[in-house]
Amino acid sequence: MALMTKEQYLDSLRKLDIKVYVFGELIKNFVDHPIIRPSINSVAMTYELAQHPEYKELMTATSNLTGKKVNRFTHLHQSADDLVKKVKMLRLLGQKTGSCFQRCVGMDSFNAVYSTTYETDEKYGTNYHENFKKYLEYVQEKDLVVDGAMTDPKGDRGLSPSKQADPDLFLHVVEQREDGIVVRGAKAHQTGAINSHEHLIMPTIAMKEGDEAYAVSFAIPSDAKGIYMIYGRQSCDTRKLEEDADVDVGNKEFGGQEALVVFDNVFIPNDRIFLNGEVEFAGMLVERFAGYHRQSYGGCKVGVGDVLIGAAAVAADFNGAAKASHVKDKLIEMTHLNETLYCCGIACSAEGYKTKAGNYQIDLLLANVCKQNVTRFPYEITRLAEDIAGGLMVTMPSEKDFKHPEIGPICEKYFKGVNVVPTEHRMRILRLIENMTLGTAAVGYRTESMHGAGSPQAQRIMIARQGNLPHKKELAKKLARIDEEAIAKREAAAAQK
Ligand code: SF4
Ligand code: FE
Repeated sequence: MALMTKEQYLDSLRKLDIKVYVFGELIKNFVDHPIIRPSINSVAMTYELAQHPEYKELMTATSNLTGKKVNRFTHLHQSADDLVKKVKMLRLLGQKTGSCFQRCVGMDSFNAVYSTTYETDEKYGTNYHENFKKYLEYVQEKDLVVDGAMTDPKGDRGLSPSKQADPDLFLHVVEQREDGIVVRGAKAHQTGAINSHEHLIMPTIAMKEGDEAYAVSFAIPSDAKGIYMIYGRQSCDTRKLEEDADVDVGNKEFGGQEALVVFDNVFIPNDRIFLNGEVEFAGMLVERFAGYHRQSYGGCKVGVGDVLIGAAAVAADFNGAAKASHVKDKLIEMTHLNETLYCCGIACSAEGYKTKAGNYQIDLLLANVCKQNVTRFPYEITRLAEDIAGGLMVTMPSEKDFKHPEIGPICEKYFKGVNVVPTEHRMRILRLIENMTLGTAAVGYRTESMHGAGSPQAQRIMIARQGNLPHKKELAKKLARIDEEAIAKREAAAAQK
């Protein structure tokens, strides 16, 4: 089986014995849980679109490992064109779901682990790359969802992993055995963890001597012994638990998902290990994964932005304000900001380069610029969407009031906008905007834009490292005809005094 259908994906989740806690309860049937299900539907869209002739070009690719057709979410990028297609695929999925569809973390980790294991083996003669190739062939063949897991809880940010008061604050190896390793710790903010068949673990920061136990990468099924998850709650999530919840949830069908994944002494067999103590390669893995994921945001956030811009324009239509010049201008500004993010996503892809292992890596500087813009522009797009929507978005009565035999008609009457538009339609579009700006999908569109794939300062460090300031200074000095030799002579004379 190279491509699963949406239904096969749902069935495959039902077969997993994943342990997940939601609101303090261990859930038996997570697939049909009203809070979790919309996030599963989002991942399912990555399967559904791959079956669609119209989207085949974007959603599938030919595996360099097997020559077979695979879902692009399990693909190793073979060219800059593959990188561009990835961004386009993510924009498409953002448009279809209006939320985070979670499967990208796996794709980004595959590509980072593939190239890093190659270079680790080259230096140490280890067998990690072969291990990983076999693993990825299995993932491609089964068309699995993999949670690419990087972020540790991190405890005291001023201390390295091995100096923490509690060693479990960074996931680490607690036992080296003949046949594998035993690990303990956790990964936080794990996008799509519960909807994944497997976890692919990577270190969270660059490491130094002394941190060997923390420089570890491996893959493990999500229902392996010792793993459990605690679901992250989202703003307005309990609306999904209300009887006949519909209009008030804003986006009934789709959503995102984050969780804490706990590893309580989990055994990892040797053939699933991709890094084990080679500290200097932890940094490379982090930088490459983060680079890919910062590129990803130039696709997914743009797709969700498309929906939000559209929703704001519909709200203006329903309010009767569409012709106002300031409304038109705000929609232009939102589009300009959104397309600027897309430009960044495409640019860092088009400038991609071949790694030693043969897959393609994005341009790191441009991917970091992309993500730095993502930490800002969705906030401005959100502000403008709220401006256009009007205050009713947050003062409107509930769906139950609208359905009430006595006060329902009163709500209908007083919340009417343009006469030909039913009041319920006006509610629906405002609730959708609320969902993306303040509700459950705001996790993926707003706050994740800030912190996902690394907080803003992480990109500024990379921009400083990649920006090549000395070269820029050289350019300026040459044109200004600065006499470098004269400066050097003066420096030497000053040093002698
Ligand atoms: Fe994919 Fe975007 Fe969600 Fe990250 S935030 S998993 S890139 S949809
Ligand atoms: Fe993310």
